[in-house]
Amino acid sequence: MIQIPKGCKDVLPSQVYLWHRIEETARKTAAAYAFKEIRTPVFEHTELFARGVGDTTDIVNKEMYTFLDKGGRSVTLRPEGTAGVARAFLEHGLAGGVMPFKAYYMISAFRYERPQAGRLREFHQFGAELYGAAGPEADAEAISFADSFLRALGLEKVALRINSIGCKHCRARYHEALKAYFAPHLGGMCEDCRNRYEKNPMRILDCKVEGCKAVAAGAPRMLDYLCDDCRAHFDRVRSLLTQAGVAHTVDPSIVRGLDYYSRTVFEFVSAAAGAQGTVLGGGRYDTLLEQMDGKAVPAVGFAAGMERLLLVMESEGKLPAPEEGVDCYLAGMDASSRERAFLLANELRRQGVSCETDLMERSVKAQFKYADKTGARFVAVLGERELLDGAAEVKDMKTSSSERVKLEELANYILRRRS
Ligand code: ATP
Ligand code: MG
Repeated sequence: MIQIPKGCKDVLPSQVYLWHRIEETARKTAAAYAFKEIRTPVFEHTELFARGVGDTTDIVNKEMYTFLDKGGRSVTLRPEGTAGVARAFLEHGLAGGVMPFKAYYMISAFRYERPQAGRLREFHQFGAELYGAAGPEADAEAISFADSFLRALGLEKVALRINSIGCKHCRARYHEALKAYFAPHLGGMCEDCRNRYEKNPMRILDCKVEGCKAVAAGAPRMLDYLCDDCRAHFDRVRSLLTQAGVAHTVDPSIVRGLDYYSRTVFEFVSAAAGAQGTVLGGGRYDTLLEQMDGKAVPAVGFAAGMERLLLVMESEGKLPAPEEGVDCYLAGMDASSRERAFLLANELRRQGVSCETDLMERSVKAQFKYADKTGARFVAVLGERELLDGAAEVKDMKTSSSERVKLEELANYILRRRS
């Protein structure tokens, strides 16, 4: 039998309500913050990610699903959402439209990773992009949006950590300090970190290898190298968050895995998700759009991993209750009452009552069993006599009480009593 590719997951009908819950919460929160959905292609020209995500990142170096299409063009399944949104924003000239530009996405993303709990090869992200606003209010708005989303899911033990990684001016001095610090330790560090040392030493702080983490723990902190503007920006973001009641701590170790960040970076971390503790990450990326051939447009955004959210919701005991069954199951006793049940079901559906009838030629007893198992709220039984009377015995499956109800009144009867 052919099996699902490694690192992918099926969502079965019995579990999909969990995803609906996250998706509905995401859409509602986005609406409250006036962000509209944007949809971009699942694959893009490889060049977009090389340039947009950054060619010193793990994503671009090791994790991309890249292939040549039949026309010989190199394309890549999107490993994240921001690059595609930024491309669309530039391609459609949206900078000339209503600003700030505020969009959210819900996508599947693809990274060739070593699969484990909360780390998949196809995974799902809910993310937001806010372009055009350079001030700290925009950072605070994006973080507050992310925070509201997590709280609306009922999560209480997810902690916000925030840092500033400065701008290209103050970071140059910091890179020098980092290189001086790491130089004597390089021999004991992983090969990736030795490469990062040359290309982008800050990336070493994001290494997940224990030995490297230990060395990184003693490294100089970007916060001590911020220029006055970056410092003021960071302080203002924090002050706005504090005033808005968004609890947070400063964590100098946060640098984020993508190359395009500047100034504010943040992560929402859960102890419950184990090694893959970051459920949502984001920050400011003021140079991204410029790097992609656009003019400079300031940007801030975040992305949440939906599989990790589910893991954390489970560990916090915040999974929603399963969806209920149909409003009414119409059981038929014989051929003619089954036909009547089929037609009646269609009438009821038109009136807003969700219905099912037997499609398996089961006995009335077996039909009842099915209705019970699938959580039908009411069961109406139709037989020869019921058809003559134009009325059916209707059983309330919650209370187990029964009543005789005229068929033409059945829809109203159920609509009044369901829920
Ligand atoms: P990590 O450090 O865990 O590899 P990342 O920095 O690569 O995460 P981002 O690129 O910032 O992650 O993506 C945002 C969010 O998407 C992460 O915080 C996480 O919740 C989720 N995510 C990233 N990679 C995966 C994956 N392979 N499987 C499941 N979720 C993921
Ligand atoms: Mg990663």
